[in-house]
Amino acid sequence: MTAIDKKAKPTILIIDDDESMRFLIARHMTKLECDVIISDSGEKAIEYLQNEEVALILTDLNMPGMDGIEMLSHIKHNSKHSVTPVIFISGNANEVDIQIRGYKTGAVDFLQKPYNPFILQSKVKVFLDLYNKQKQIEFLLEEQRGLNQKLQSVTTELDKKNRELDHLSRIDPLTHLPNRRDAREKMQQEVVRSVRNKDPFSVIIADVDHFKMFNDTYGHEGGDNVLVALANTIKQNIRSQDYVCRWGGEEFLFLLPETDRYGAKGLAEKIRLKVEQLELMYHDQPLHITMSFGIGEFNRRKTLEEVVKTADDNLYRAKDIGRNCVFA
Ligand code: GH3
Ligand code: MG
Ligand code: MG
Repeated sequence: MTAIDKKAKPTILIIDDDESMRFLIARHMTKLECDVIISDSGEKAIEYLQNEEVALILTDLNMPGMDGIEMLSHIKHNSKHSVTPVIFISGNANEVDIQIRGYKTGAVDFLQKPYNPFILQSKVKVFLDLYNKQKQIEFLLEEQRGLNQKLQSVTTELDKKNRELDHLSRIDPLTHLPNRRDAREKMQQEVVRSVRNKDPFSVIIADVDHFKMFNDTYGHEGGDNVLVALANTIKQNIRSQDYVCRWGGEEFLFLLPETDRYGAKGLAEKIRLKVEQLELMYHDQPLHITMSFGIGEFNRRKTLEEVVKTADDNLYRAKDIGRNCVFA
């Protein structure tokens, strides 16, 4: 097995038991853009092909040991070379029964020895062109696969970032409670669920009493700490199916599925008491915080806006009658 002209070009495998013939065919290939490998037997050629890829095989028919058609049959059964074109160059290439056997086994062409070099080169060129085009297509497909993978990973990353952004756009950075935007969507979903299941839901709006005075006394930072403490207290005292958000500055909105205004009043009263009993300290000074609560109940005769307005109106009644109380 001898390699002639070792460059990254398509490889042609030449098999002939006659040494001068092998080198003659190889010499006729030098004008073409290809590398050449020569072999003096079918057995050695098959061994070579186990690990190597070739673009085209030019082979003798009659050789001692394995003959050309037998070798072709072996090659065709190797999935790696099942489509590799094989041309027979032989003194018997014009015999019809040999050609029929050859074509049936998978040969693509026959050339009678002595052959015309130009005819051989022309035939070989057709198959080299085909091979090069196939390689180009494979390369483009590979490139496309790489680009698709990149696109897929960029899209996945983008989806993740969008979900993170969406999450951030629904969270209040101070208390880590959902914000007003998230609450609006939750309430709209709750309206749909409530109408379908024909059960009520309630909304509570809670507001810190005299918070302005509190801010004025302890500063904005002191006020912020109180808001965080209140958010935590509320979170710890509602059921998992209940929902609370930071509705505005020092206002919290509760959404209570499957709960009428009496149930909501009970919860508001419980939270009111917890807040009143909170033992908060600011720079070693005990703080006394209270909240007022207004309740609105949804039924099918009301819009969501009307329910929120009812809760808001009731909150202001709670403020009017002295604060630190619930109005339903
Ligand atoms: P009322 O009992 O009637 O609710 O009195 P109030 O002082 O709480 O009500 P008002 O609406 O007059 O003032 C609300 C105050 O809440 C004013 C504002 O500076 C403060 N506030 C709103 N958002 C924040 C916040 O994020 N942090 C702090 N520290 N204060 C806030
Ligand atoms: Mg207030
Ligand atoms: Mg307020």
